[in-house]
Amino acid sequence: REDPSFWKDHNVQVIIRIRPLSSSEISVQGNSKCIKQESCQTITWTGHPESRFTFDLVADEHVSQENLFKVAGLPMVENCMGGYNSCMFAYGQTGSGKTHTMLGDIEGGTRRHSVNCGMIPRVFEHLFTRIQKEKDIRKDEKLRFTCKCSFLEIYNEQILDLLDPSSTNLQIREDMKKGVYVENLKEMEVTSARDGAANRKVAATNMNHASSRSHSVFTCIIESKWESQAVTHHRFARLNLVDLAGSERQKSSGAEGERLKEATNINKSLSTLGLVIMNLVNISNGKSLHVPYRDSKLTFLLQAVVNEDASGDVVAMRLQIQQLKKEVSRLRSFVNGRTEN
Ligand code: ADP
Ligand code: MG
Repeated sequence: REDPSFWKDHNVQVIIRIRPLSSSEISVQGNSKCIKQESCQTITWTGHPESRFTFDLVADEHVSQENLFKVAGLPMVENCMGGYNSCMFAYGQTGSGKTHTMLGDIEGGTRRHSVNCGMIPRVFEHLFTRIQKEKDIRKDEKLRFTCKCSFLEIYNEQILDLLDPSSTNLQIREDMKKGVYVENLKEMEVTSARDGAANRKVAATNMNHASSRSHSVFTCIIESKWESQAVTHHRFARLNLVDLAGSERQKSSGAEGERLKEATNINKSLSTLGLVIMNLVNISNGKSLHVPYRDSKLTFLLQAVVNEDASGDVVAMRLQIQQLKKEVSRLRSFVNGRTEN
């Protein structure tokens, strides 16, 4: 949507994606508690108590990667082209389809993507199509774009650069000018969707084999400059695509040493994310609270986006938080299997 008012009202979207059952799941389906889709926004859990949940969209197992991109990814690209920061999280248990949704099958080669490729490659392709279109339309304004990408993994509260595996345990720094950034993180300037695909291959081979316990963050920074009426304009937007660690409770029984540390640290990033969101919601309701961004690497890193938004457009931020509050309570009751209030 190119109409900016649309975005003011649709700042936060929560989409549930249902993946097809695997062959082992089909054999135990006799147990009749299941999820029934009622409309494109409502699903019902038919266990006890029967519960109904509403989201912005329920994508059933037949929804293709392409259609999901059209609903969730394409608007984010448009948003970034307009200079707004955006962030997408994939949240769910290990095996629920987070990586399939975010990255998907990237073996389709560097030329054209395969039908199973996910959000990140599609965002890329669309981004460069849009940039070219915009440049063609606005030739007179000497429109220029730069697009820089980074891809990192947070594992055990340590940051690893997926584009440069020789560097480990990178540190987050804060600077008056640059804001929050990761020191020594490789930022690749990408000039085509093809460049992007080549980089993703590098990243995929460097990913942690224990990826169910790590968070991966793909960031794309889009800058544009143009001239009109003898004034140079400058626009800047950041897009974060995050594949979170599995939401299942990490087993602490029997875990010792490294494994216990790992479990605690993963819970830390996910639980801090939950706490940060809840405190932002309560602040928007007038409470004065500390937001613990710095308690985990993930929230410290994403803080940049929240702060920029808050100073740039306070009204939009308030709206966003109010909406977030509703979505969080829905998501929480869904995940806990309780009836919505
Ligand atoms: P997660 O990253 O949440 O642990 P994956 O993305 O690895 O889960 O998905 C687990 C398995 O299910 C993979 O084999 C994946 O290809 C398959 N899968 C997930 N979602 C879908 C889908 N929508 N359609 C077809 N296969 C899927
Ligand atoms: Mg995964």
